[in-house]
Amino acid sequence: MSAELYDFRPARCPVLVSIPHAGTMLPPGFAARLTDAAAGLPDTDWHLPQLYDFLAEMPVGLIRARVSRFVVDLNRAPDDTPLYAGATTGLCPDTLFDGEPVYRDGMAPDAAEVAARVETWWKPYHAKLREELDRIRATFGFAVLFDAHSIRGDIPRLFEGRLPDFNLGTNRGAAAAPDLVAAAESALSAACGYTRITDGRFVGGYITRTYGRPADNLHALQLEMAQSTYMEETPPFAWNDLRAGLLRPHLVRLISALVDWSANRP
Ligand SMILES: [Zn+2]
Repeated sequence: MSAELYDFRPARCPVLVSIPHAGTMLPPGFAARLTDAAAGLPDTDWHLPQLYDFLAEMPVGLIRARVSRFVVDLNRAPDDTPLYAGATTGLCPDTLFDGEPVYRDGMAPDAAEVAARVETWWKPYHAKLREELDRIRATFGFAVLFDAHSIRGDIPRLFEGRLPDFNLGTNRGAAAAPDLVAAAESALSAACGYTRITDGRFVGGYITRTYGRPADNLHALQLEMAQSTYMEETPPFAWNDLRAGLLRPHLVRLISALVDWSANRP
């Protein structure tokens, strides 16, 4: 059952990578309920498993959801508490990022269906995430969670102007040790020609805010990336081999910095 919900590879070092929004799987009958605008799953964190394929050669663990965020958003609270004060999208989003409806008239889920989706998809992902973080912490004394995301760089409803290429989220410093944040920032700073910010529009979602507890030896960072750094941001959201090839070494350096920090921690 779990193989249908997520892909999982245990960590051999303190670092675990989570990819909650790259899934495109829809349950039977789901696609017929979507509007034409939603049918192409436009708000997916496209191609992240391919972009991060180098993780397979590193000692870090990986958990990656298979289900689409349109079914249930794993980076939202299970009671659907809004993540941000302004415009955002919810646990079982009924609008796209740009405000267009996700469902055809009368096809949106009722409360019972939302609750069932939380049971079927949300809880198993978070149970596995928690279990692996606990195992890592028991083995190494601490754990580092890296939550990987990407989004269109231009969504007027959600943010003004163009998003920086790298948006590091630390829950405003509360989710990770300062020297771990500094190590991540230093690795990203070395990416010449790319723009970056820490705790800008994206400070980290539910996953970063929930699991990032430095006092409990759990550190979490979120990286939200502008998708233009490795793909086309308009349908059909094609992978761009040249851009991805230029970007990937910077991601390797970033993840390596987290592994190195973990290895050299007193
Ligand atoms: Zn995402």
